[in-house]
Amino acid sequence: MSTLGTALVTGASTGIGAIYADRLAKRGYDLILVARNEQRLQGVAETIRGETGRKVTVLPADLNNASDLARVEAVLRDDSSITMLINNAGVGSVASSLNADIDKMEAMIGLNITALTRLSYTVAPAFAERGAGTIINIASVVGIAAEILNGVYSASKAYVIAFGHSLQNDLAAQGVRIQSVLPGATATEFWDVAGYSAQKESAITMSAEDAVDAALAGLDSGELVTIPGLHEGEAWDRWEADRRNLSLKLANAKPAPRYNIA
Ligand code: NAP
Repeated sequence: MSTLGTALVTGASTGIGAIYADRLAKRGYDLILVARNEQRLQGVAETIRGETGRKVTVLPADLNNASDLARVEAVLRDDSSITMLINNAGVGSVASSLNADIDKMEAMIGLNITALTRLSYTVAPAFAERGAGTIINIASVVGIAAEILNGVYSASKAYVIAFGHSLQNDLAAQGVRIQSVLPGATATEFWDVAGYSAQKESAITMSAEDAVDAALAGLDSGELVTIPGLHEGEAWDRWEADRRNLSLKLANAKPAPRYNIA
């Protein structure tokens, strides 16, 4: 059976990550599935093996635990069959700045930012050396629309978007594909963990299947940033063109005249 190599998917025990695992196996990838809940990972793996015959390995790990994270990094460094990394594991919150639990916020930063960064930087040199490989980072629309949910969550996803631009800048010329995916509200257990289960039933909430299928269509069409729920795609193109244009104007040896600095 031919293979596209191995995709390592974090947060693959349920939700968006489990759908990625299913779709990628059906596309011809072998899989390494990472999450904390081994039993659920085994269930996902068994179903996919049964349906596709692909090789599926489970790698139970808490990406907020330094030694677990190091084990995943070692796999990314040492397994040369890996051609794709999907940084999908993430948690959210709806708590406001006045009542959020700071320890939970720190753990969110650890998972949504630190783990994603370490895994990306671990695999990047191997991909660059081979001149091939794909890194998909799951951000969120709240990385742009920061006022909608908890601020640390939104800021962690803004980080993912900015980090994706930087990875693209550093790695595209080496033949490495980067994609940042910005789902809107998606019907997964994310909302139970975040503290607002009712969002799963909302009229604007997308299924995880549709979100992942759109994200993969965006990958196929070469998008750097994919927003499954944004119907007016030109709006992103305009925003991005403005951002790049503004980027060229931000630094100057003299303060702007409006500040009246003599
Ligand atoms: P989900 O159904 O809650 O799945 C989250 C996954 O991450 C699970 O597999 C979970 O597995 C894993 N995970 C959580 N903490 C972990 C840890 N410390 N170490 C390793 N794995 C961990 O949520 P989802 O909606 O699929 O979310 C996937 C990604 O999409 C996240 O980055 C999220 O921010 C993003 N997103 C979601 C939505 C939405 O509305 N659902 C919208 C925009 C973006 P275990 O519990 O087994 O560890």
